Amino acid sequence: MRPEQRAMNNTTYRKCFEVCDEVKEARAGKKIRLRDYPAAIVMCADSWEHPMASAIERSGKVVRTSYEETPELEAALSGLGNIGGKRDECKNYIGACAEPHSARTVMRARPETEVDELAFSYAYRPRTKTVIRYCRNCTDVFNVENP
Ligand SMILES: [Zn+2]
Repeated sequence: MRPEQRAMNNTTYRKCFEVCDEVKEARAGKKIRLRDYPAAIVMCADSWEHPMASAIERSGKVVRTSYEETPELEAALSGLGNIGGKRDECKNYIGACAEPHSARTVMRARPETEVDELAFSYAYRPRTKTVIRYCRNCTDVFNVENP
């Protein structure tokens, strides 16, 4: 694993604890359900070599217009099918993963970034603090490979 990815993984892993604390605070006094936790979080940066922008985002709701501010990312996701829809190859909704959410934040900050140049940490499930595999939608759109 490249050192940059190790550093990104460490930061993303630590963020899992913050995300869980936020959920517990938001649900103070109420029962916490599994769906209160995001399914996944991941860190994205605009480059491996000289990162200028990075973001850790979570998976969650997506609508048709969610990516209209980042046209290249929107085009890449639309290559899979309708944003917010599903395709046979993957169980996840197109654009709903933590990866495109974090990519969008980075590409808003650095619009000159190419989609396939983006760097990603592993994806983590906050409530279990474990690494989860990139889904087929994400391996097809981003330059990422599962370990
Ligand atoms: Zn995915």
